[in-house]
Amino acid sequence: MKDVIVIGAGVIGALLARELAKYELDVLVIDKESDVGNETTMANSAIIHSGYDPKPGTLKARFNVLGNQMFPKLCEELDVDLKNNGSLTIALSEEEIPALLKLRKIALLNGVKVELLTPIEVFEKEPLLSKDVQGALFAPTAMIVDPFNLVAHALENAVDNGVILHLNEEVKNIQFIKEKNHYEVMTSNNTYQSKVILNAAGLYSDKIAKMVDEIDFEITPRKGEYLILDHFDQYLEKRFLTHTIFPMPSKKGKGILLSPTTSGNYIVGPSSHFVSDRSDFSTSKETISEVQLAAKKLIPSVPFKEVIRTFSGLRASSTRGDFIIEPLKNHPSFINLAGIDSPGLAASPAIADYVVNDLVKGLLTLKVKKDFNPYVRKYPRLKKMSVRERNELIKKDAAFGRIICNCEKVTLGELNDLMSRSLPILSVKAIKKRLRIGFGKCQGGFCQPFIVKYLSNYYNIDISEVKYDKVGSNIIKCSTKGCRL
Ligand SMILES: Cc1cc2nc3c(=O)[nH]c(=O)nc-3n(C[C@H](O)[C@H](O)[C@H](O)COP(=O)(O)OP(=O)(O)OC[C@H]3O[C@@H](n4cnc5c(N)ncnc54)[C@H](O)[C@@H]3O)c2cc1C
Repeated sequence: MKDVIVIGAGVIGALLARELAKYELDVLVIDKESDVGNETTMANSAIIHSGYDPKPGTLKARFNVLGNQMFPKLCEELDVDLKNNGSLTIALSEEEIPALLKLRKIALLNGVKVELLTPIEVFEKEPLLSKDVQGALFAPTAMIVDPFNLVAHALENAVDNGVILHLNEEVKNIQFIKEKNHYEVMTSNNTYQSKVILNAAGLYSDKIAKMVDEIDFEITPRKGEYLILDHFDQYLEKRFLTHTIFPMPSKKGKGILLSPTTSGNYIVGPSSHFVSDRSDFSTSKETISEVQLAAKKLIPSVPFKEVIRTFSGLRASSTRGDFIIEPLKNHPSFINLAGIDSPGLAASPAIADYVVNDLVKGLLTLKVKKDFNPYVRKYPRLKKMSVRERNELIKKDAAFGRIICNCEKVTLGELNDLMSRSLPILSVKAIKKRLRIGFGKCQGGFCQPFIVKYLSNYYNIDISEVKYDKVGSNIIKCSTKGCRL
């Protein structure tokens, strides 16, 4: 019998697991994907919003503001890249100034520090902005984060502290066993009993909840398409952009933004279109053009020749609008974490804190684990080290002297270190998300063959069995001579 089963290993499930790991509890996290954070958590803008725009009094406002404050300590403990770059919400016409003033009022009601800037002050911060700028709202507490490693390191830390993680396992059905007051969770691999269920299944959270009882919401996926620019100016004194730039928000949300990322790239997007297919992560020429056009209104000189990739993510928006963080009606021990669209990433640590220390606390005895270690073992990142530090490491282990990804300057030593940790690394994509191998200009063209061979050696399997990502995503069909197609 488990104390808690967490369904979903996105950022919400990961931070719930880590919070639960602080207590003497038997916790199991289940995800249908081959890696943690493989759905919405890996395809977003990666902004730790300040909380300047959610409607005051909503769960979005409450948890965004609290979550933002928790990020510096969280990322320090989990060794995750976080940068406090601040955001600018731009008014491009006189007509937008009243809306900017209204936004300032909302920010102040939410308890968020903001500053109204004149066009001159705006250009001092971002000289490449459109000459049409009439003013801006500066939010100094906005940050950017590495979302891939946030979820991975949070779960690594949870597993190091006793949580069990099952990947490639889909929850198929859940039954409440009234006489025993527990849930039976049937998955593609097994059946488990648990006293408490935390439903953090993102795009599928309504389907999971419906397995147990009727619900009064539905998930209506909203697609956001993006462009990624290379870190073309990484070594130049003057960067293209330092702040996150938002247009004025609309009914569709915060709008199409431009931002640096923690890896030195630039992200442009997202669009906002409702879709019916929860597994459609395609991008289209039309929407990408729409994104480019909107971005050019803010910065006319965006160097689109530096684009190295487009991608899309699906927001798990709900018909209720706000986050849904509450027990299912008539089921106090089944807690929904649904409709967690933006700012879910920014809100995630505060949501986890509330759910565990307020809701779960009323259901189970929470005995503090005395030996809980909040820190993950530091990741060796050669790109960030001084020449002296690098040389010292290479002296200890020559693998740190062998670069295996030229675009992102990643070494074999870093890959070996990753494989020695507690989370299973089952795919090429899992390595890509953590170390950035394949994220650069070559998009894996040069480095991927090495990674395929490495995984084949590591797991002692044929190279044709190595997967890019999910079941069926094998990269190599067979050797040229032995192939019978
Ligand atoms: C375009 C876009 C831009 C965004 N930008 C930002 C931003 O800048 N800042 C911000 O704060 N937020 C942003 N967000 C929102 C943020 O990404 C989400 O709130 C957050 O990632 C949600 O995490 P999650 O864990 O709830 O969902 P997910 O990451 O989707 O995790 C849910 C997990 O449940 C698993 N699962 C589902 N069904 C089953 C099943 N039956 N059995 C087992 N496992 C299952 C899935 O495989 C998945 O891994 C953005 C979202 C999008 C799409």
